Amino acid sequence: MNETERVELSNLLFPNLKHDREYYENMYPERDLPEGAMVTRYGPSPTGLVHLGNLLSAFADMSYAKQTKGSFYLRIEDTDQKRMVEGGIENIVGVLNDFEIMPTEGYTFGGNYGPYRQSERTEIYQTYIKDLIIKGLAYPCFMTEEEIAAIKEEQEINKTKIGIYGVYATDRDLSLEEIKEKISNGEEYVIRLKSPGNLEKQVEIKDCIKGKLKFPEHNVDTILLKKDGTPTYHFAHAIDDHLMHTTHVIRGDEWVSSLPLHIQLFQVLGFKPVKYAHIAPITIKDKETGNIRKISKRKDPWFSVKYYDENGIPIKALHLYLATITNTNFEEWYLKNTDKDINNFEFSFDKQAIGGTSFDEAKLENLCKTYFSRKSGKEVYEETLTWAKKHNEEYAKQLEENKDDMIKFLSIEKDGPRPRKDISKYSDVEEEFSYAIDSKFEKENFSKYDGEKTYDTELVLNYIENYLDLDSNNEEWFNKVREFAIENGYAGSPKEYKKDPENFKGHVGDICEAIRVMITGRTKSPDLLSILKILGKDKISKRVKLYKNYINN
Ligand code: GLU
Repeated sequence: MNETERVELSNLLFPNLKHDREYYENMYPERDLPEGAMVTRYGPSPTGLVHLGNLLSAFADMSYAKQTKGSFYLRIEDTDQKRMVEGGIENIVGVLNDFEIMPTEGYTFGGNYGPYRQSERTEIYQTYIKDLIIKGLAYPCFMTEEEIAAIKEEQEINKTKIGIYGVYATDRDLSLEEIKEKISNGEEYVIRLKSPGNLEKQVEIKDCIKGKLKFPEHNVDTILLKKDGTPTYHFAHAIDDHLMHTTHVIRGDEWVSSLPLHIQLFQVLGFKPVKYAHIAPITIKDKETGNIRKISKRKDPWFSVKYYDENGIPIKALHLYLATITNTNFEEWYLKNTDKDINNFEFSFDKQAIGGTSFDEAKLENLCKTYFSRKSGKEVYEETLTWAKKHNEEYAKQLEENKDDMIKFLSIEKDGPRPRKDISKYSDVEEEFSYAIDSKFEKENFSKYDGEKTYDTELVLNYIENYLDLDSNNEEWFNKVREFAIENGYAGSPKEYKKDPENFKGHVGDICEAIRVMITGRTKSPDLLSILKILGKDKISKRVKLYKNYINN
């Protein structure tokens, strides 16, 4: 076919396009961004639930763009209409909002490079295809599914590469007349790339995370436009990332094997190549087999993003965890820099584990504890209340009714170099601070402590009722308890007691623990004197009464 014929063919295939390629090139000019700014995108297909791996790549997109004062946009990749699920798009947008991984532009976020939904870009894709047809770089292919299946079977028997290429690509050389005839016969067609690749030659690609990769050139006449006129993922990727001026494609490494095709598409289309960063999937050590495997929807509750919300893992703490998966040096940095937040950390592709990272529940929990320890009591109160309003209404009401005291309790042992690390999620607060709310304490079942230790009830009640001094400081307070303990046959320290257990009824720590159990209903709590001071004399007497009732019944 000569050029005149190709122009005729292009008009025959696409008679109604309003614009040419130049029009779109001018419509989406280079972005005006500072030197080194990264333009990243999250390109989900709305085919099901959003999982931790999706959040991870969106988080990396956001972090790199933010750090370089670039742009992070959301593009809905809905070219495969058959695999779409209802509500899938709303769900994606909702998850990004809920998890505070906010694009700076894109679908529902606005911007100058839209539409940001691939199903609304058909005309753009077709315009570029038309241009490829004119240049002789793509062609209509009328092969039926049966014909393609037969070729595949033959290739399998011959153990040669599967696909339409070389001698198998018979429609490459159809004449204009033949094509016209097939179209007038109503034969359906796709548009294929006329691949210029040669399997004998190698392409070398530098992946930002994986480093140098070497592949044979792509030589298959891959489908670019489907029978219904919509693009395949590969073609849409090239067009969109070019026109939207993406600088870095950060995506799951299931796409690595498509790289030779993608590199070729950018070349054939005459586009400046983008940089790629392929993230390995999150793995996990299987509890039963001990083997490392991909994190799974069926086996691992952490897979679905719902888990984090329902269990009350703070979003910002989850960000810390995503940052540790993104960069292996993040955790150490964060624990060392007690006064800095994630925005001060410099993410870098070469600090990303090439083989992926294993999900580590203990690490997540530890980061969450650190996160809470750095929050003021008031902040913990407010965040917990917000979470409880959604997941535990009754507790939310109690929190509101006890706001002032609750904040005081949550503020105990917050100052100093080692703030308390007792909560790792909002859902822990109710149990850890059960003593803070009277109505909860009233339901306290002291019998759960009975087996653990026998408390000298009379003695301790006598102390609380007659000697408790709420005006003293910690040291004075403890000295007084110790004096009382010694006078009553207890050792003044656990060490002394251990040396000669026969000689003592116990040690001062046992008395403190008994006070703690009677007043808080717990064997562990933040600083006891602080709790006693917040409760005050009246509440303490009420609690003593409750405890007496318990023993007398
Ligand atoms: N739509 C693709 C997916 O959901 C995105 C791949 C990409 O980021 O290029 O897997």
